[in-house]
Amino acid sequence: MQPAVPIDVDETSGIWRTDGLPMVYMPRHFLVNNHLAVEAALGRDAYRAILRAATAKSAIEWCEEQVRGKGLDPEATFRHYFQRLSQRGWGQFSIDALDVAGRHGSISLRNSIFALEAGQGPGQRVCYMFEGFVTGASSFLLGLATATEVECEETCCACEGRHDHCRFDFAAKP
Ligand SMILES: [Zn+2]
Repeated sequence: MQPAVPIDVDETSGIWRTDGLPMVYMPRHFLVNNHLAVEAALGRDAYRAILRAATAKSAIEWCEEQVRGKGLDPEATFRHYFQRLSQRGWGQFSIDALDVAGRHGSISLRNSIFALEAGQGPGQRVCYMFEGFVTGASSFLLGLATATEVECEETCCACEGRHDHCRFDFAAKP
């Protein structure tokens, strides 16, 4: 099948765009090799915290742009965010539970790029980059001032070998 996202390539500059946003198309191993190199240099805990803040910022900016560009409401934007990630090859996200009033939810992910690149190993949870994606999108959805008001953890990973998918649970801090 062909990509489900619209891709426009500027003939003059060569810049790729989807919905007006400049994009980069790259080999999966390139992204994951860079990711693992930074993790090795900084240590997972430090890198995870940096990554969470940076990816949450990008998720919020993306969601805000969708509201401006497409006029979507917050929940439709939240759903569209995970749809677009899925359509762009990060893995197949599905929103299994979403309780906006209760300010929590659960998202599953199949064919995560990180799990596919890592193979399987007991106790390995390798998709922590997506925790920031989820905190950013959910803080946007819930109208919170910052993404740090949301907690999210990858609670199981396909890489561990016990499940066929990864799962992210999130909740606004009380
Ligand atoms: Zn995972």
